Amino acid sequence: MITYTYRYKLKPTKQQIRQFEQYLDICRSVSNYAHAERKAWLESRKSRVDCCSIVSEYIIPANTPFPSYNIQAKALTEAKNKLPHLKLVNAQCLQQVLKRLDKAWNDFFKIPQRGFPRFRSKNRFRSFVFPQLGKNCLDQGKVKLPSIGWVRIRQSRPYPVGFEPKQFQIVRKASGYYLMISFQSSKKVPDPIPGKTSIGLDAGIESFVATPTELIKSPKFLRSKLRTLKLLQRRLKKKIKGSNNWLKLQSKIARFHEKVANTRRDWLFKLAHYICDQANNIFGEDINFKSWSKGMFCRQSLDSGIGSFINKILPFVCWKRDRFYLKVEQNFSSQECSNCGAFTGKKQLKERVHHCQFCHHTESRDTNSAKILMQRGQVAVGHTVTRGLQAGDAGSPDSPSKIACGGDATGFRQLSLFELVGSQ
Ligand SMILES: [Zn+2]
Repeated sequence: MITYTYRYKLKPTKQQIRQFEQYLDICRSVSNYAHAERKAWLESRKSRVDCCSIVSEYIIPANTPFPSYNIQAKALTEAKNKLPHLKLVNAQCLQQVLKRLDKAWNDFFKIPQRGFPRFRSKNRFRSFVFPQLGKNCLDQGKVKLPSIGWVRIRQSRPYPVGFEPKQFQIVRKASGYYLMISFQSSKKVPDPIPGKTSIGLDAGIESFVATPTELIKSPKFLRSKLRTLKLLQRRLKKKIKGSNNWLKLQSKIARFHEKVANTRRDWLFKLAHYICDQANNIFGEDINFKSWSKGMFCRQSLDSGIGSFINKILPFVCWKRDRFYLKVEQNFSSQECSNCGAFTGKKQLKERVHHCQFCHHTESRDTNSAKILMQRGQVAVGHTVTRGLQAGDAGSPDSPSKIACGGDATGFRQLSLFELVGSQ
């Protein structure tokens, strides 16, 4: 089973915008009510049976079960008789709201890093879902939403052939309303198998990623525009909070952030395709980016989006392009010599050059790690590892490692990637 999500910009009429906003409002109130119900139940069970809590006490009978999804969905159907405005919204949309809340709660209990679910303000509730669609709901330049009707879209790409639309999600963003369509196909596609050529990727500090032959620097998406952002935020501070001008500026800042995010995403996809052009097997490193972005590279690594690239975008593009992708153990990749395989000892972060005291091989630290990752990947898929040079060759001017460190070829390739960014 293959699932694709395509995103289109909606071109709703004023009437439809009012409808979307009404949907969001009602969905939000249902979500918050259900959340409050669960939270109250939880609080009421916090103190022991034979004593009172000092902070607060909720009186919910001891035999009341936890308001799970099934109980709340049933209560919702009953509530519609008393509160007719709930009928204005598609029934399945509201059920999806409860499902989403249920998932947030379950994740909170199962996944340690997850925070406690929150109440949603208007700004935090931005989307709703139609889980079931009518027949023939797609047409050229328009889509048919259940119980709303035909809405025009900006058809930026054709619908995929051989796929069926399964779900619509409407999302409000700073620049307007968007429609995410989930397409599904029941066809079975075998996972890519290892091919002949390999490449290793090392997420660097100096460069965005390093491959065995080049260092790819990332454009500083947000950093280069920080000045503009600073200016806008300073202006915002002078406005009266909540006034019309304040709102206008607020939305301008939101659109600014959205644009930066779009630019970044676009570049990352182009980079993933560029890497897939180069080899059949791609080996990335297995890093916990969450702890990484909390450290000293915080703004840098978040700005470049390295985490989403290694964990989401690259695996997806590899799968789509039939390239074999594998995460390999990344420990000590900077301490091993890619040329002779010797252990060269710990490097400090500021040491950017790898120099082997055994074979006197010298090259960029990130390139060396990329080679090590490639070699580990080759071992993992059962290929023979080819080590670069023999001892003593490292100093000759036309050795491969010299070219890798920043010859003309590398510079040219970096340029071509930057051109990709400039072209949009
Ligand atoms: Zn060596």
